[in-house]
Amino acid sequence: MDLHEVSVKEVLGVGAQKAKDLQELGIRSVADLLEYYPFRYEDYRIRDLSLVKDGEKITLQGTIYGEPSVQMFGRNKSRLACKVMVDRFFVTAVWFNRHFLKDKLQPRQEIVLTGKWDQRRKQLTVSDSEFPGAKDAQSGTLQPVYSIGGTIAQKWLRRVIRQALEQYGMLVEEILPEELVRKREWMARRKAVWLMHRPQDARDGQEARNRLVYEELFLFQLKLHAFRFLTRSRADGLAQQIDSEAVRAFARSLPFQLTPSQKQVIAEILHDLRRPASMNRLLQGDVGSGKTVVAAVALFASVKAGYQGALMVPTEILAEQHLRSLEALFAPYGIQLALLTGGLGDRQRRDVLASVQMGLVDIVIGTHALIQEDVIFRSLGLIVVDEQHRFGVNQRAILRRKGMHPDVLTMTATPIPRTLAITAFGDMDISTLKELPKGRKPIKTYWIKHQMMDRVIGFFRKEIASGRQAYVICPLIEESDKLDVQNAIDVHLQLSQALPELRIGLLHGRMSAAEKDRVMSDFLANRVQVLVSTTVIEVGVNVPNSTVMLIYDADRFGLSQLHQLRGRVGRGEHQSYCLLMADPKTETGVERMKVMTETNDGFEIARRDLELRGPGDLFGIKQSGLPDFRLADMTHDFHILEMARDDAAELVARQDFWTARQYLPLRQYLQREQIFNGERLD
Ligand code: ADP
Ligand code: MG
Repeated sequence: MDLHEVSVKEVLGVGAQKAKDLQELGIRSVADLLEYYPFRYEDYRIRDLSLVKDGEKITLQGTIYGEPSVQMFGRNKSRLACKVMVDRFFVTAVWFNRHFLKDKLQPRQEIVLTGKWDQRRKQLTVSDSEFPGAKDAQSGTLQPVYSIGGTIAQKWLRRVIRQALEQYGMLVEEILPEELVRKREWMARRKAVWLMHRPQDARDGQEARNRLVYEELFLFQLKLHAFRFLTRSRADGLAQQIDSEAVRAFARSLPFQLTPSQKQVIAEILHDLRRPASMNRLLQGDVGSGKTVVAAVALFASVKAGYQGALMVPTEILAEQHLRSLEALFAPYGIQLALLTGGLGDRQRRDVLASVQMGLVDIVIGTHALIQEDVIFRSLGLIVVDEQHRFGVNQRAILRRKGMHPDVLTMTATPIPRTLAITAFGDMDISTLKELPKGRKPIKTYWIKHQMMDRVIGFFRKEIASGRQAYVICPLIEESDKLDVQNAIDVHLQLSQALPELRIGLLHGRMSAAEKDRVMSDFLANRVQVLVSTTVIEVGVNVPNSTVMLIYDADRFGLSQLHQLRGRVGRGEHQSYCLLMADPKTETGVERMKVMTETNDGFEIARRDLELRGPGDLFGIKQSGLPDFRLADMTHDFHILEMARDDAAELVARQDFWTARQYLPLRQYLQREQIFNGERLD
């Protein structure tokens, strides 16, 4: 039985309404339910009183001794107290506002109590109590804690998952090939799933988790390697006919000399475009290293070969900016560009779509939707993805299913350490821009305190008097977009009052695309000298005349993000400055400020960033572009990741993987993930 096909409604106690509520958590099938793992456990194991410390949350077992007493106070507040004998000690158990329990507490009765221990008073403030042998007893166990939401309660979910285990636990099938289970000495999948929800002790739970982390990472790696294997062996990509002479002429027409790295990387890309296998290349380069122009040359080459190009960026601001800079470069060559973003009206949008389909547009620039929606290209040859890594193997597989086999170039300024990159983007070839264009002066970074604002204002005046411009990034409030915006408005007002002779612009996420675009054009043309912004500015913005970056509450930002923000200056010939305003309250905050003032090297910063980040900082992981995993944590499970990568690569390379019966479940998995269409490969 495939538990993916069995609805949760088959589980005793799950009705139609609850099934709907479970869907909100992404749970539809019994398999989903069983794979809904807890993120931690609550310890209800019974403790030895002589070993517990003051203030701990503990579970004790004892015998009720004497009569319980109730005190009422205030309006409907109560305190129920009762003496309990635990081992040879007397303990006072105290319940607040649960006086109705009084009648249940019979002398000489056994009872299990969970709560917070007060060593001096020998008193337990009870949060949970139960009598031994009760149904669903939690005493003596580790209880799973699930992430819940909506109308789903923790206790209900525990019960339902326990019920699902009773009904279907034995039907959980192995998914890993037997030889790998043996080689790595993993427990059976069935057992691992069981123990995740009902571990006997912490070691059990850890072993089960490791096995499932391996499985998750193995399947991910299998996807990457299978996709790579299939696209290479089919060699059904485009073999683009590159006109080297025209490309060279275009490169010569640029307003500057390409750096040696840029030349090298362009050669690698052109080589890929020519080959009949689809390109899948990651271009890493520190902020300001000149990735855009590399993309421009690649797009030019592809268009000259008779194909269309697409440039995908994460924000509309960036789309507009790329449109402007590419238009300047391509104008003499009659290359047609179009913008496709959410900001377009229906009419305009239809026009653009039609032109793309008819092949009247050579290059489309837009946000992520560019590929997913029903945009039809006449002959898509190259996709460039800028400043984000979310264009994963699944999206490429979707394109291929639509019959498009374009070459793909992904560009990133958030370098992740090489070992991690190889593993996380295991299916990609990697190119690196190793140096910045000549003549760049290293950005000077200073850590300043809030009370130095007067001097900062003076510094702004001086820089702007000599023709330069400045960015101001507002305090970040992670939980609230609304407060972020309010902060930006406040800072904008303060600066406008302090610098009445200057034009101060404001940019935040609640503004319309048109408003944002106007502010950005004003800033680019130096009609606005200071740009106050929330972090919407973060990625990719290029205004070479700006030389000052002031960041409020800098300690609250992650290192990679700070480096990205700093990278908005130092993009031209002028000396640039980054001012980090921070009074850090945490050690991590202090450390971040130190790292930023010590180095300008993006790779070094990425390394320190990973070091500083504690476990479970999912926000940070997301930012680094690594995929989201249910269980695996890249910073901690790295050795499992390497194991999984080696095993997956080895397996995919074997002939019999694609034919032998015992690998059928894995091939079916690849089919479900749309990597593989089930054809036989011999
Ligand atoms: P990033 O890699 O951060 O995307 P950009 O592509 O925006 O960087 O380039 C940053 C700036 O450097 C731009 O103003 C660009 O015109 C300029 N630039 C790029 N390549 C060179 C070069 N070889 N020599 C001088 N300036 C360059
Ligand atoms: Mg860029």
